[in-house]
Amino acid sequence: MSYALKKMTSRARAGLKEAGRLGLDLLYPRRCPMCDRPVRPFGALICPECAGLPVRALGNTCLQCGTIVPWDRAYCSGCQTNRHLFVRGCAAFSYRSMSRSLYRYKYRGRQEYASWYGLEMTGALKERVRRGRFPKPDYILPVPLSRERERKRGYNQAALLAREVAKRLRIPCREDILFRTRDTAVLKTRDFWERQENLKRAFLVYGNDVKLKSIMLIDDIYTTGATMDACAQALLAAGAENVTFLTLAIGEET
Ligand SMILES: [Zn+2]
Ligand SMILES: [Zn+2]
Repeated sequence: MSYALKKMTSRARAGLKEAGRLGLDLLYPRRCPMCDRPVRPFGALICPECAGLPVRALGNTCLQCGTIVPWDRAYCSGCQTNRHLFVRGCAAFSYRSMSRSLYRYKYRGRQEYASWYGLEMTGALKERVRRGRFPKPDYILPVPLSRERERKRGYNQAALLAREVAKRLRIPCREDILFRTRDTAVLKTRDFWERQENLKRAFLVYGNDVKLKSIMLIDDIYTTGATMDACAQALLAAGAENVTFLTLAIGEET
C-alpha cells in the first residue's frame, strides 16, 4: 500500500472510531462519575456542577506515597514505619469523596468513568512532575488482576485507567509485562504474614523490557501499599531502575 493510501485509511479508521464513540454516546449517554446522571452538555466527561465535588489530593501529602496528611507531617504513619520498595506515589483524590463513584466503576460496569478519572490522574501527576517530585516514567503498567477475576468482572479497572493516562502522557502502556499468578483476595482468611508471603509471590514479570527503565504502576486505590510493594519487588528483581505509582484515590490521615 502506498504511503498516501495508508495515511488515508488510518485517518478514515480514526474518523470511524470517533463517529462510533459519538454514536455510542447517543445510544447510551455517558454518565457522570459523581451523580451518575447522563452528562450535560453532550460530549462532556462530568457535569460542570459536579466537577468541584471530589476532594483532590493536593496540599500536604506524604512525600513518599501521596496520602493526605496534616500540615505538620512530611510522611504518613504507614511510610514512617514501613520501608516501601516504590520510590514515589501520588493520587488524584481522597478515597472518601470517591468511594461511591469507584463502587459503580468497579461493580456496576461504569467503564466510561475511566475517561474523566484518567484526565484527573494525569493532571495530578503532571503537577508532581512539575514540582520536581516525581521521576518521569518510561512505561506505564496497570496492576494486574488474576485471570479469573478479570473474566468475572469483564475488565481490569486498573488497565482502563492506565490506557487513559498513557494516551494523555504519550508514554507506552504495557500490559504484556506484569502478570498476577494467583488471586490473593481468596486468601483473606489466612494470617497477616502468610498473606504477605503469598502476595510477594503473586506477581510475575515476563521478558526483560523493564531493565533500567522507570516504571509507573497504575491502580484505582492505594491503601497499605502491600500490592504496590509486591509488584515493585517483582519489577526491581527483573532489573527496573525504579518503580512509582499513580492511583485514582488514596486515604487521608487527620
Ligand atoms: Zn454529575
Ligand atoms: Zn505515605
